Amino acid sequence: MIAEKKYLQPVTIDEALAMTNIAENDFRFIAGGTDVMVNRFQGNETSSCLIDLTGINELKQIKKVGDYLSIGSLVCLSELKNSPEIKNEFPVLIEAANAVASPTIRRSATIGGNILCENRCIFYNQSEWWRNAIGFCLKCEGNICIATGSKKNCYSEFVSDTAPALISMDALIEIIDIDGEQKIKLEDIYTGTGVHPRNLNKTAIIKSILLPLHQNFVSVFNKLRQRESMDFTSLTTVVSANKNGKIKIVLGGVDPKPVVIEGTNKSNTEELIIQAIKKARAIDNEMLSRNYRREMIGVFLKRSFEKLII
Ligand SMILES: Cc1cc2nc3c(=O)[nH]c(=O)nc-3n(C[C@H](O)[C@H](O)[C@H](O)COP(=O)(O)OP(=O)(O)OC[C@H]3O[C@@H](n4cnc5c(N)ncnc54)[C@H](O)[C@@H]3O)c2cc1C
Ligand code: SF4
Repeated sequence: MIAEKKYLQPVTIDEALAMTNIAENDFRFIAGGTDVMVNRFQGNETSSCLIDLTGINELKQIKKVGDYLSIGSLVCLSELKNSPEIKNEFPVLIEAANAVASPTIRRSATIGGNILCENRCIFYNQSEWWRNAIGFCLKCEGNICIATGSKKNCYSEFVSDTAPALISMDALIEIIDIDGEQKIKLEDIYTGTGVHPRNLNKTAIIKSILLPLHQNFVSVFNKLRQRESMDFTSLTTVVSANKNGKIKIVLGGVDPKPVVIEGTNKSNTEELIIQAIKKARAIDNEMLSRNYRREMIGVFLKRSFEKLII
């Protein structure tokens, strides 16, 4: 009987995992739905069954676990600012969350959904009618990349704003799926290929995001977008330094995955900036040109190092 339902509402993780079995791989988890539902309206997400995770209360907590702060994957972006630990130890996460979409969307949008937000491209995030008119591309079952003419690679952009902040502070994620539980570095889930940007099993549920406590992080966040009021990123940069002098630069919006560069407070910052620009495989697939966005990497990172007190 349950298999005929199109919208399932588990209240425990075990129940959610059991439902993945029933839905025979033709399902999608949904949290706030602010990314999934737009993709469905545009015909880019067609699973016949949605498994809504928002009834699972254990995924909504923020708590200390050993040397980490554990942020449940279903915590809404608007709630992060209410956590004293996040305010005191990881304020850049609040800044990054506040840069996502609009206040109304941030009240539904979750942090788990944000780190798994689908890669974007101006030739892909369009209605089916629009895409049909120019011919479907690699990311929607066509055989060519419209942006580059390549028959092999898709460079749709990684656009999450919170993931660069989290990665810059060495976040781990806790994942559970039918094969068991594991903790991995957040940056390790991103593949760098635009068609399948993450290497998670389809049944994987993000339980929480873990941030290391007492690292005295100092961070600088920047986001380039067309409209300050509400827009996906054209370039997000975060630079974080910890108490041991480790520096981590993370870029979003200029590659199919987050670009990560590590150094120390002894590193030559100009060399770090050059490395970051070289590593970003931005292409002309959004409103701001590739050249402009690459130039802005240098501008943002230079400003970040000027602000950073290491
Ligand atoms: C107008 C508009 C503007 C936007 N602007 C921005 C922006 O500036 N920056 C930005 O980063 N995003 C932006 N977004 C995208 C989106 O709102 C956010 O990324 C949001 O945080 C997604 O969270 P969600 O809970 O709504 O995810 P959903 O849409 O519910 O899910 C997103 C993905 O995550 C998966 N998922 C969600 N939770 C889990 C979990 N616990 N375990 C496993 N899988 C899970 C879903 O299966 C899906 O693949 C915008 C969206 C809109 C409509
Ligand atoms: S980068 Fe190319 S293949 Fe990827 S979504 Fe854009 S047009 Fe399609």
